[in-house]
Amino acid sequence: MKHGPFTIDPVMTGDFRLDGGAMFGVVPRTLWSRSNPPDEHNRIAMTMRALLVRTPERTILVDTGVGNKNPDKFAQIFALDFGQYTLESSLAAHGVAPEDVTDVILTHLHFDHVGGAVRRDDGRLALAFPNATHYVQRRQWEWALAPSDRDKASYLPDNYLPLRDAEKLALLDGDTELFPGIALHVIDGHTFGQQLVRITHEGRSVLYCADLVPMSAHIPAPYIMGYDLQPVVTLNEKKRLLDDAAANGDVLVFEHDPGMEAAIVTKDERGYRAAATGGIHELLAAGKDA
Ligand SMILES: [Zn+2]
Repeated sequence: MKHGPFTIDPVMTGDFRLDGGAMFGVVPRTLWSRSNPPDEHNRIAMTMRALLVRTPERTILVDTGVGNKNPDKFAQIFALDFGQYTLESSLAAHGVAPEDVTDVILTHLHFDHVGGAVRRDDGRLALAFPNATHYVQRRQWEWALAPSDRDKASYLPDNYLPLRDAEKLALLDGDTELFPGIALHVIDGHTFGQQLVRITHEGRSVLYCADLVPMSAHIPAPYIMGYDLQPVVTLNEKKRLLDDAAANGDVLVFEHDPGMEAAIVTKDERGYRAAATGGIHELLAAGKDA
């Protein structure tokens, strides 16, 4: 769908499952299990929804999913499912070949966000998007090189060291307008130097929430992942972003929600909730009539 000079489309890269308790932190299972029923391993259904943003000059991919090079045991633990789509098939459906991608914005370097950036072809690692510059916050890059024992299972060096070795890595320092109308917001609660992506035209924004609000179930302020390194920082970052989103009618895109692509939120005395839900395209179109 056109949003001024931008054509914005979700790119489904694959489905997976994570532990429900880890996804909702201190929220009791009796609450989260209503909207997100766990399977026999206590895992909930999730997806990896990247974002394609095209302008007359650029073809930009935001995040890449988990990729194709994971061992069978890993694929089993996380129930990786590429039966319906892959990163490549979803890009091809939009007429985009890997060589066409000019820029890859990586929100952070956890495996379910960056894994698709590096392929394994005949046993060798190769960039999935050989012509693209890959943008990462410097603090996230440095953390990924030496993560803590608490989060190192999320960082697999084969997913990102090849970007540096191929000299296709651009490290960023803080908030920036990367391209006209495409801004990056740095947040630190989930990990250090995560960047959210905001695409704005005539005051109306599409905000890719990455792991700040991974699923629509995380819209209520205290619904924060157990994975987060600094959950109280996440809480404050979330309130700031959701206050802005509610005031401005931002279209929020959920990277990990299998059933809900996007929502517009409101805020009342009981907190935040989704006022309108659906696809990015219909929410942008609905906003125009309002
Ligand atoms: Zn993450």
